[in-house]
Amino acid sequence: MGHETSDSKSARPVETVVVDGLALAKELRSELAEEIAKLSADGHRAPCLAVVLVGDDPASRSYVKGKQRACKRIGMDSVEHMLPESSSEEELLALLDRLNSDDGIDGILVQLPLPAHISAARVAEAVDPAKDADALHPTTSGKLLAGTAELVSCTPLGVIAVLDHCKVPLEGANAVVIGRSNIVGKPISLLLQQRNATVTMCHSRTRNLPELCRQADVLVAATGQPRMVKGDWIKPGAAVMDVGVSEVDGELIGDVDLEAARGIAAFITPSRRGIGPMTISMLLRNTLLAYRMRKAI
Ligand code: NDP
Repeated sequence: MGHETSDSKSARPVETVVVDGLALAKELRSELAEEIAKLSADGHRAPCLAVVLVGDDPASRSYVKGKQRACKRIGMDSVEHMLPESSSEEELLALLDRLNSDDGIDGILVQLPLPAHISAARVAEAVDPAKDADALHPTTSGKLLAGTAELVSCTPLGVIAVLDHCKVPLEGANAVVIGRSNIVGKPISLLLQQRNATVTMCHSRTRNLPELCRQADVLVAATGQPRMVKGDWIKPGAAVMDVGVSEVDGELIGDVDLEAARGIAAFITPSRRGIGPMTISMLLRNTLLAYRMRKAI
């Protein structure tokens, strides 16, 4: 990593490490399980995550099940609230009100996407910031901007944890983030900047995207455009974090052409067993942290 330029691409090929995000996610979960076991040994109850799903989209349903399974495996409680697709925004906000004032609930996650008649922004604002496991409340994002956040969006936390695990130097690195959503692109850019990377945020109107990407020591792709990032967009030796997931003909495809990146990137996360499992581990981390902060333990 470091000071190669795109001109050095013809130099010796790089041995690409395809990062096993699932293995790393499991390591983190065992650490969380140990923490919860210690809390229980000290007479404290288990932390509890409330997961709210509106409608019965099969993909969302399977994400919710996966999150609940992950809770159970580390000794964390979870409760599920399934609302019909036809539920009104008021009904959802009323449920969030009840969960906010329920002392037995430590983290709240509303599975996205929501039906079109419900405002995701109003829902994010209705979650008590002290229980904001998905870190989408404006107060939580404001703290991230100010550099004082404890709870941080799960996927961005997962990306930073992978980079740290791979010992990718961030200080002074050129980082390019493609995507600027509130849940992924913006918080990743802020976290990288906090780690003293020089960050370029790209989006659908960015000019010369391949050129910008070729300067990136750290390239984060979070667009949902399958295999948009080609091999010749990648700087030799770069760390490539592929966050995007799209389903094409029943197959999950990332934003980066992984096969083309082999031999060029130093590290790359695959679309399966990559950032996804890390996102769930960080949701568990946030719930445990929210519990500890609220209970001051
Ligand atoms: P959004 O649709 O909210 O944002 C996509 C971003 O990508 C936008 O900023 C958009 O730009 C940008 N973009 C779209 N097309 C292009 C293009 N051709 N060139 C450059 N930029 C482009 O998605 P999310 O941020 O919520 O999610 C991004 C991806 O990450 C999705 O595939 C999602 O499924 C995946 N994801 C994966 C997670 C995981 O755990 N692995 C967790 C969360 C998300 P503009 O702002 O100009 O429209």
